[in-house]
Amino acid sequence: MERYYNTKLKKYQFKRKIQVYCSHCSMWINEETTKFVNIEEGMQGEDKLTFICPDCGQTSTSRRYG
Ligand SMILES: [Zn+2]
Repeated sequence: MERYYNTKLKKYQFKRKIQVYCSHCSMWINEETTKFVNIEEGMQGEDKLTFICPDCGQTSTSRRYG
């Protein structure tokens, strides 16, 4: 399983399933726990999800990491 070091929280977080990144809390979040707003294709053909973060309640846009 892939590990990711969160420099703000100073701890490792695991990337599982589809993860999205909340720029407000600097956290990786399981896509399943977010509230879907929109999905669009980015410049390199990547999926970009706009979602409402379950932790901070703010809208954030992130590339989807599987
Ligand atoms: Zn958040």
